[in-house]
Amino acid sequence: MDSCIACDIINGNMELPGGRIYSTVYWVVEHCIGPFGVGSIIVKLKRHCVHYWELQNEEVMEVGPLLKLITLAIEKVLKVDQRGGVISVMQGR
Ligand SMILES: [Zn+2]
Repeated sequence: MDSCIACDIINGNMELPGGRIYSTVYWVVEHCIGPFGVGSIIVKLKRHCVHYWELQNEEVMEVGPLLKLITLAIEKVLKVDQRGGVISVMQGR
């Protein structure tokens, strides 16, 4: 596998400005770096996975409630009404 920024952050090989926000058994919620800008967060697997179809059933079952929890927290804190600030990505090059 070539270098993967997502895994480098997970493994502590790359600094994450703002740090980790939340984690579950399979997923982490972190501040997003890169072109999405300040204020965006990312929900990603703890393991390297490129495609959604590669998700294990346990990972699928955990991410739905996690997205609801995170978006509810964003709504409570920021009082947003429509704007979505959560990005879920699979890891790749
Ligand atoms: Zn990776």
